[in-house]
Amino acid sequence: MVERQIVHRGIRDERVICALREVPRHKFVPQDLESDSYEDCPLSIGQGQTISQPYIVALMTESLRLNAEDKVLEIGTGSGYQTAILARLSAHVYTVERIEVLLARAKEIFKDLGIINISTKLGDGTLGWEEFSPYQAIIVTAASDNVPPPLVKQLSEGGKLVLPLGGSFSQVLTLIEKKEDGLKEEQICGCAFVPLLGKYGYHRE
Ligand code: SAM
Repeated sequence: MVERQIVHRGIRDERVICALREVPRHKFVPQDLESDSYEDCPLSIGQGQTISQPYIVALMTESLRLNAEDKVLEIGTGSGYQTAILARLSAHVYTVERIEVLLARAKEIFKDLGIINISTKLGDGTLGWEEFSPYQAIIVTAASDNVPPPLVKQLSEGGKLVLPLGGSFSQVLTLIEKKEDGLKEEQICGCAFVPLLGKYGYHRE
């Protein structure tokens, strides 16, 4: 998976490549799909949600240029696979998921794998997680038509936020940097994610 889908497509950050080699993706996939764990595609994890394609996980992670001392906020824990990758590359990951059964399953996997630098919260991630802000990096793993304002507020100056921005069928993976003089936006590539729900999400609740 790593050679064909990650390195071959241009991911260069050695730390990211190493994390993808080390985190056992099959543990995060429902048992009946385990044999497809390392395929080049997203997979269903139940509740109408997906575990993202390995390349997209690598690309989003690389774009954040994480340092070992960084605090990261993730919106959309899903299977917990992306969370576990981030946890290998940063000091602590705060992750928010709105679907209880998914979060419960992800927490079990983190425990089984002995990952201790992850804190989880059940709730609306478009509100962020103010208590532990500011974050050096924020990743949103569901599609939105706007950048939720609380996330911009909770990003540290110099911090990076990556998210799929666009409509409900297709989006552009977008990297936002919070600079002294405002936000700098960079478009990375086209993508297709499930919608970000909640107060500031695609479908306002
Ligand atoms: N990165 C995940 C992985 O590796 O498995 C994939 C995440 S999946 C594509 C998107 C997740 O975002 C879903 O689990 C969904 O329930 C969650 N989600 C959508 N809106 C949310 C919100 N407002 N707050 C928290 N989670 C949300």
